[in-house]
Amino acid sequence: MKIILSQRCLVCKQPSNTSICHYCVDDFTLFDIDRYQHNLMFSPNVHRSLAKVDFPQVLALADYQWPLSKLLIGLKFSKHVPNAQALAAVFVKYCLNSIPELPQLIIPIPLHKNRYLNRKFNQSIELAKHICKLGQLDMDTSILTRCKSTSAQTDLSAAQRNKNLRNAFEVSEASELRLKGYNHIALFDDVITTGSTMNCAYHCLRKHNSNLRIDIWSICITLVH
Ligand SMILES: [Zn+2]
Repeated sequence: MKIILSQRCLVCKQPSNTSICHYCVDDFTLFDIDRYQHNLMFSPNVHRSLAKVDFPQVLALADYQWPLSKLLIGLKFSKHVPNAQALAAVFVKYCLNSIPELPQLIIPIPLHKNRYLNRKFNQSIELAKHICKLGQLDMDTSILTRCKSTSAQTDLSAAQRNKNLRNAFEVSEASELRLKGYNHIALFDDVITTGSTMNCAYHCLRKHNSNLRIDIWSICITLVH
């Protein structure tokens, strides 16, 4: 009997019974996370690319390169939600399946509420939602908020980014008690570029719970080549 596959691979558009076909998944150049004990800060290349951050641990799938970059751009700018589901599935399989200790909670990096109302979409929440569903984890989008509307970061230097981001995040008094109830969480963003956004969110959470273990997760890291 001939099986008719109506679904097509999100990358190569060939018929496939999974959202990304196995040829494309096999073709991804993923970070060797087992080699670095689930902490890519031990990878000299990642460490060099994130030289200005204070968080001691980071976990991601790959360098920000095609075709993962194309899937992330399609999610962010065209709100193509199937990409979130597909990327989350790859992340859970390659980054979380063999992880020694899972966090109690995932916090996706928030957008400022004006930006969110404008876009009605936060790609990091979409990705985290699917990661939590597949990995049976909890997600929270209310503890950490973005209180400062920061302008686009892409064209700024690291120093300008940091200035732009100063006090960009906050934990409300009401959320502080809840945050203190956790001892291990993960902060999640779609892409880590210089790491300055993550770094600010990391410090904000640490300020409110200094004993908190905060893992840093993302789909891609932009490596400095
Ligand atoms: Zn494919």
